[in-house]
Amino acid sequence: MLEEQVRDRLNWAGNYEYAARRIVVPASLAELQQTVAGARQVGVLGSRHSFNGIADSAGTLVSLEALPPGIDLDTDARTVTVGAAVRYGILAEHLQRRGFALHNLASLPHISVGGAIATATHGSGNGNGNLATAVVGLELVTADGEVRTVRKGDSDFEGLVVGLGALGVVHRVTLRVEPAFNVRQDVFTGVAWDAVLADFDAAMSAAYSVSLFTDWTEGSIGQAWLKSRMDDARGVPEVFYGGTPADRALHPVPGVAADHCTRQLGVPGPWSDRLAHFRLAFTPSNGDELQSEYLVGRKHAVAAIQAVRALAPKITPLLLVSEVRSMAADGLWLSSNYHRDGIGLHFTWKPQQAAVEAVLPDIEAALAPFSARPHWGKLFTTGAAALAPLYPRFDDFKALAGRMDPEGKFRNPFLDRTVFGTA
Ligand SMILES: Cc1cc2nc3c(=O)[nH]c(=O)nc-3n(C[C@H](O)[C@H](O)[C@H](O)COP(=O)(O)OP(=O)(O)OC[C@H]3O[C@@H](n4cnc5c(N)ncnc54)[C@H](O)[C@@H]3O)c2cc1C
Repeated sequence: MLEEQVRDRLNWAGNYEYAARRIVVPASLAELQQTVAGARQVGVLGSRHSFNGIADSAGTLVSLEALPPGIDLDTDARTVTVGAAVRYGILAEHLQRRGFALHNLASLPHISVGGAIATATHGSGNGNGNLATAVVGLELVTADGEVRTVRKGDSDFEGLVVGLGALGVVHRVTLRVEPAFNVRQDVFTGVAWDAVLADFDAAMSAAYSVSLFTDWTEGSIGQAWLKSRMDDARGVPEVFYGGTPADRALHPVPGVAADHCTRQLGVPGPWSDRLAHFRLAFTPSNGDELQSEYLVGRKHAVAAIQAVRALAPKITPLLLVSEVRSMAADGLWLSSNYHRDGIGLHFTWKPQQAAVEAVLPDIEAALAPFSARPHWGKLFTTGAAALAPLYPRFDDFKALAGRMDPEGKFRNPFLDRTVFGTA
C-alpha cells in the first residue's frame, strides 16, 4: 500500500490543498477495507476535479487509483460494472469498442466515475439525466470496513448514489449502457439571446445535447454547441436563432485554440469522441480557472438567465466563459435535478478566488427566488440552512449518513457546513 505524505496534495485546479494528514493508495479491496475500518476520520478522492473541500478529510484520504479497473460489460443485462476510480474517457473508449454507449458525458472525460456520480455531475440535453442517473448498482466499503452491495430498487438506493463521499467508499459502480450511436457536433456563432429566450425550450431541445456559451453581456450568445445523434431524423438546422455554423473549430473560451476540443464542424463520429467537449489526452477547459454552477428548474430558466445577465457588470470581468446546459429530472435525493427538469448556469472563472467568492453571494441572491441548487463540486457560499429547503429528501440523507456512519468518520468541514449544518 502506497502512502503519500505531503506530495501532490492539491486538487486539479490547484485552488484547494487537502488538509488530510496522509493519502493512502490501497492495492486491493482488502487493503481498502482495512484502511477504512482502522481510520478515525477518512475520505475518498476521485480524480480531484472538484473546486472545493468536498473530498477532504481531517485524517486519512484514500485514492482508489491503484485498484484494478475491472471493466465488466454484461451485454445481456446492458450494464457495465467498473472500479470507481476509472475515468469516463477510458470507460467510453472501452464501451465504444464493444458497441455500447453511456447516455451522456460531462464536458471533460478525465473525471472518475465514483467522483462524478457523488456530486451529480452532468452533461447537457433536455432528455438526459445527469451521469448518476445511469447508476443501477453500487458496491461500497462502509464505515466499519464491511462491503455492502446495493441495487436500484433497494431501500435508500436513491439516497446512496449522489453520496458526496459522506456515506462510504464506493468500490465498484454498475451503470446502464445502450447500443453505441454516432454524433455530430456543430458550433454556431452569432446566436441572438432574445431569439433564444423567446423560444427557450425549443432551443435547448434542438439537438441531443445543447450548450450555450456566453459572457452574458452582448446581444449575441458567444457560441451554441449542438451535439446531434446521427439517428435523429430532424438533422441539424442551417441557422440556429440567427446564428450560423462556425467555419473552423472553436474553443468555448474566446481566444483559446481548439486543439483540446472534440471534433466539430459536423463531422460524424462515435458518441465517445463527441459527447464531452474536451479530449482525454489534453487539458480540459482553460486549465487555469475556477468554476461555479447553479441549477434551477427549467420553468424558471428565462427569468434566471435574465437575473444573471443583469449582474453582467460584476460577473463578466471575472469570467473566462459561462455555459448554459439542460438536464432531465431524476429521483436521486441530493441530485441538483431532484424531481425537476433543470438548467445549469455555469461559470468558468479566472483564477481569482477572493474576487470570485465576493461575487458569488450576489449570484446566489439573484437566483434564490428560483430555488437554485449549487453544483456540489464547484465553488459556492450557501450553507446547510439555506440548502435544506431546496432538497425535499435532505433530512433523509442526513439520517442515512447517521445510520451508515454513526461516528462521523466521513464528515469533513465542507460537509459540516453544507449538509450537517454544524460548522
Ligand atoms: C475542467 C473541469 C470541467 C468540469 N466539467 C463539468 C461538467 O461538464 N459537468 C459537471 O457537472 N461538472 C463538471 N466539473 C466538475 C466535476 O465533474 C465534479 O467536481 C466531479 O465531482 C469531479 O469528480 P472527481 O472524480 O474529480 O472527484 P473528486 O473531485 O476527487 O471528489 C468529488 C466527490 O466525490 C467523492 N468520491 C470520489 N470518489 C469516490 C468513491 N469512490 N466513493 C465515494 N465517494 C467518492 C469525493 O469524496 C468527493 O465528495 C468539471 C470540473 C473541471 C475541473
